[in-house]
Amino acid sequence: MEHKDPEVWKHMQAELQRQQTVLNMIPSENYVSNTVLQAAGSVLTNKYSEGYPKKRYYQGNSHVDEIELLAIERAQRLFGAEHVNVQSLSGSPANQAVFHALLNPGDKIMGMRLDMGGHLTHGHSVNFSARYYQTVQYGVDPETELLDMEAIRQLALKEKPKIIVSGATAYPRLIDFNAFQKIADEVGAYTLADISHIAGLVAGGVHPTPFPFTDVVMTTTHKTLRGPRSAMIMCKNEDRLANVEGLDEKQAKKERDMAGKIDRAVFPGLQGGPHNHITAAKAVAFGEALTYDFRMYAEQIVKNAKALAESLMGNGIKLVTNGTDNHLILIDLRPMGIGLGRDAAVALEEAGIITNCNTVPYDPSTPFKPSGVRIGTPSLTSQGMKEPEMRQIGEWMAAVLKDMGNTALKQKIKEDVKELCSRFPIYQGREC
Ligand SMILES: *Cc1c(COP(=O)(O)O)cnc(C)c1O
Repeated sequence: MEHKDPEVWKHMQAELQRQQTVLNMIPSENYVSNTVLQAAGSVLTNKYSEGYPKKRYYQGNSHVDEIELLAIERAQRLFGAEHVNVQSLSGSPANQAVFHALLNPGDKIMGMRLDMGGHLTHGHSVNFSARYYQTVQYGVDPETELLDMEAIRQLALKEKPKIIVSGATAYPRLIDFNAFQKIADEVGAYTLADISHIAGLVAGGVHPTPFPFTDVVMTTTHKTLRGPRSAMIMCKNEDRLANVEGLDEKQAKKERDMAGKIDRAVFPGLQGGPHNHITAAKAVAFGEALTYDFRMYAEQIVKNAKALAESLMGNGIKLVTNGTDNHLILIDLRPMGIGLGRDAAVALEEAGIITNCNTVPYDPSTPFKPSGVRIGTPSLTSQGMKEPEMRQIGEWMAAVLKDMGNTALKQKIKEDVKELCSRFPIYQGREC
């Protein structure tokens, strides 16, 4: 590639070097194995496979069928899921598919507010989810900054949503999926647990699982799960809310078939051909996640996040909920000034520490100039870093945050970061 397309190659090469020399603390990112990269960069990208294994609309799919079946079977084992669809292209289209499968336009979705940690696709006004469905949003308690399950219950009783979505992109504590299910049972709603951020922690046994009671569980595969950029949808075989009144036996069977509804919503409802190279990479990643090493990895992600949180707080930095139970930490910069998140993320990048700015609950500023910074430990843990490194990184971060304009300090830390990264090398011997 270096000679055939030097223009693209040089940027890919530079990106590899960037990843090798900075601390990647964006909690939705990770470093996949070389095996996952190999599958994702394979000739499987050449094949069209509309349909599902053994029921394709194109010939020549015998090998693709085996790969997709392996991905499904491994995901079932990993999570204890009844039915798995591995064809969703990414998290947002996967949520769209779930709504398409279970709701009619105008039905009501209840999800977590974006500015309190939810995802765009859980009903935010600019998203398709609010354009085609009614939405009602819950937040966190202003005092504890935690999900208040009784407040959520009251809202559900009042609003009677057709589906209740749990899951978050910026929530540092455990989510009680069982409590969400109980509320849904009370109001006759479906449940969707979007475990995109925490799927690796659930698989590794360090976060409570939404199985087996949740109707549908969606996850991206590229966050803590450490697979390729993609998603999957897991669900129960049977639709417990199916309305079969007046239907004949054949129609009633179709109405009760939750797995069939999800599959038909993905294809042909929303997508054409699946991305088979990514399906193969997912199968590889699920295989890796089934190992004992992955359980140790998931545990270490949480240990690292806790050590980092301690270090930051010990250095005078305020955290949303004063700590973390998972892979993620939200730094609350309000004590230093309103709307400092973006400036802080830029200053940290100048010190070789990559984060993203984020709203904090009840943020007095705007989403474009939020008052928080979101960080996490999945990538650092993939590199092999442990608690001593976290303590050091917490000190560096606190120093930068307290003196954001200090160029010499940021330069010095950037060099120290580079040195630390060289002791935890990634993708050695790779070209890009
Ligand atoms: C990342 C994420 C998504 C969306 O995934 P994309 O692949 O970026 O579309 C959906 N829900 C949650 C909770 C997420 O964290």
